[in-house]
Amino acid sequence: MSTGRGRLKHEEGRDSTLFMLATSALAFGSWGCAPDGGDADDGVVETEHLRITNTTGNPICAGTPLLLESEVVRIAKVLELPLWSADDRLNVHFGEDSVAEVCTGSSFEHLNGCVRGEGSDIIVAATEVANIAPHELVHAVRLRNLSLGHPMFEEGLAEVLSGSDGFPFRVDYPHGEPYTGVEEMLALPGRDFAHYVWGASFVSWLWETHGQSTLMSFMNDPRLSDDETLPLLFEEHFGQSLDEADEAWSIDDRPNPTWGAPCIPELTYSLADGPVELSGDFDCREPTVYGASSSMALWSMCLDIPETTRVRISFDANHGRFQVLSREPCDVGPAGGEAYRSKSLDAGEVLEEDIAGCRFQLFLFSQEPGFPPTPYTIHIEEITD
Ligand SMILES: [Zn+2]
Repeated sequence: MSTGRGRLKHEEGRDSTLFMLATSALAFGSWGCAPDGGDADDGVVETEHLRITNTTGNPICAGTPLLLESEVVRIAKVLELPLWSADDRLNVHFGEDSVAEVCTGSSFEHLNGCVRGEGSDIIVAATEVANIAPHELVHAVRLRNLSLGHPMFEEGLAEVLSGSDGFPFRVDYPHGEPYTGVEEMLALPGRDFAHYVWGASFVSWLWETHGQSTLMSFMNDPRLSDDETLPLLFEEHFGQSLDEADEAWSIDDRPNPTWGAPCIPELTYSLADGPVELSGDFDCREPTVYGASSSMALWSMCLDIPETTRVRISFDANHGRFQVLSREPCDVGPAGGEAYRSKSLDAGEVLEEDIAGCRFQLFLFSQEPGFPPTPYTIHIEEITD
């Protein structure tokens, strides 16, 4: 898994997302093919391009291979890079143990994932399926095809591309406010938090401003891995210098973009239609459930609240946690902190709270060891009196 064959740059990194993103919904609909197996499996699950293993003792839920195979196909297509053949599958390992074992030599204290190795020995390790693994798959697809460039571009691109429908990735543009500039990011040693945050912002800006094909022809230029020629290469592809691009990016007043649709229409509910009731079996063996590491989760959903009101939320199950999370920045006027804050219930709990007239994400997950199946019922209704 370690290379031993001397990759020149940024060897210490290939790090991943630094923190658990809040969670989010998963895309139904776009699954091209069924994985081998299908049912939850605590051993090895293979898809056309991936070999997924797990060290946690929890099963690999049936939705996991569907999600990851769909993600690796989407990512390769956008990257304009080819995937490998089925006899050369990419190894994807889940679990804290796997990450600790694989992701050595990092400058960061704690990692949620990484990519290590070369060629067909490349390994992805991740602690989480839906938010962490896609970021690492971006690195893996690129690394299988070419030498990586500066972390500002690699981490920036991996962050932006980790966003997909139901799993959005939101970027902040500087909008004239203080930020970490291109020159400064390029000079930072190793990997830095700025490469993730402002690298993603800069890559996102390049994508929006110059288009996907220009960005990818730059990212896929074999000379990208040479930091010396980077300024010239950049100008060649984008028709402006790094300084000019930095300046234009920093004052661009376009709104902050979101990569990937925030909500999947079929999994979006509205309180305008009356009380919302969701029920079924929360079962790792179902393709609607993903997970492979510390938690299993139901494909997350969205809830539209037409106007600020008060709700009663109940969550019935043998285990698990149900959350109503802020999905995007939302300000519908004075409503008090309670209305805007995220709501969280353990199995068996009932909660009454104000809720703002915004769009929220609904997230059901469980960290019960072994992921035993449980029936569940979630009920959300407006309190009118
Ligand atoms: Zn990364």
